[in-house]
Amino acid sequence: MDKIILKPRREESLLRFHPWVFSGAVAQIVGHPAEGDLVGVYSSDGRFLASGHYQVGSIAVRILSFDADPTKADFWELMLERALRLRQACGLADSEQTTCYRLVHGEGDGLPGLIIDYYDGVCVMQAHSAGMFRSKGAICAALQKLYGDGLKAVYDKSSGTAPFKAGLDLVDGYLWRSDSFSGDSITVLENGCKFLVNWADGQKTGFFLDQRENRARVGALSKGRKVLNLFCYTGGFSIYALRGGAVEVTSVDSSRRAMDLVDRNVELNGFGADKHHSVCADAIDFLRDVPEGAYDLIIVDPPAFAKHRGALRNALRAYQRLNAAAISKVAPGGFVFCFSCSQVVDKEAFALAVFSAAAQTGRPVRILDRLNQPSDHAVNIYHPEGEYLKGLLLYVE
Ligand code: SAH
Repeated sequence: MDKIILKPRREESLLRFHPWVFSGAVAQIVGHPAEGDLVGVYSSDGRFLASGHYQVGSIAVRILSFDADPTKADFWELMLERALRLRQACGLADSEQTTCYRLVHGEGDGLPGLIIDYYDGVCVMQAHSAGMFRSKGAICAALQKLYGDGLKAVYDKSSGTAPFKAGLDLVDGYLWRSDSFSGDSITVLENGCKFLVNWADGQKTGFFLDQRENRARVGALSKGRKVLNLFCYTGGFSIYALRGGAVEVTSVDSSRRAMDLVDRNVELNGFGADKHHSVCADAIDFLRDVPEGAYDLIIVDPPAFAKHRGALRNALRAYQRLNAAAISKVAPGGFVFCFSCSQVVDKEAFALAVFSAAAQTGRPVRILDRLNQPSDHAVNIYHPEGEYLKGLLLYVE
């Protein structure tokens, strides 16, 4: 292994188990590591600190191990077993009502740069680093051991996430597939609701597993209500609302493909066009034309408005405008679920944007709950940056 030697006193964050080494902390590189190579990280006085994947860029090393040797043959198996144990402990794996969950949430599972989502036997992985991309063969083999006969396929969907600088051949496809499995989609259960997930054509790994608990919350508050689900993707919140007894649900997304899947999911769950309306449109334009009081539960779950720090101010303004529109339109005694999945927008900043939105409408608004990402999207306490999904449940009089 090549060596990365840190500047004096720059080992402190690693001693606190933070999983990244920033390039500014590096004094010397001994050897010529290629992107994705395993490297050892040492303090300025020569102490071994950790090992991880080398990368060119602001994050020089993503740490895989602080003590054990990640070159050991069973490293991936041990890490995936550990990840599965957490999902089992939370009642997510082996559940009859929920057959999909996130198995690996990057730094939250000690595997920086790796996402693996599990869809009833199909694992969809996304590498966000060259090191993880180059490890995909080993990861696939470890998944086969982990799930045994229960594994149907392993699909690599890294073309949009792996760094291009790495000069890697980025084509999505199956790393392994059982002889009896074909097609690019599967029907999963989430809290008993059925969803068709298509990883090859869908966004991210095919489904947004992070809203499971918040969807259940929507379901529990939908009885007798007219529900508007903005930025609905494949209709997660809509299905829960219908099952929860909503009198009518309108789902809006600008993606035609997503709306086709919404219709299929509505049908799969035994609901019809009498209760559900699909609208393929810009959600902001749609909301502008909604008459006041037309809906008494509105979900606002837009894509990340800020993908980096530089976009923060504009993003906060956009969250404020959008939520002000929703709060002003909801019927008296109505609920608004506001979400942000931008990692750079923290809880406090988002709450402030929603506060300004409420103030702008002049309506009495109460916060009933603060919403989060679920336990299969666990946050490494030494890497608070892993917390990205936040939401507020509002009651508007
Ligand atoms: N709530 C969804 C996830 C939302 S992801 C769920 O529970 O699964 C964000 C969605 O916003 C994507 O489906 C994307 O197609 C859609 N989108 C992005 N910009 C949009 C716009 N301006 N108007 C409507 N939908 C938009």
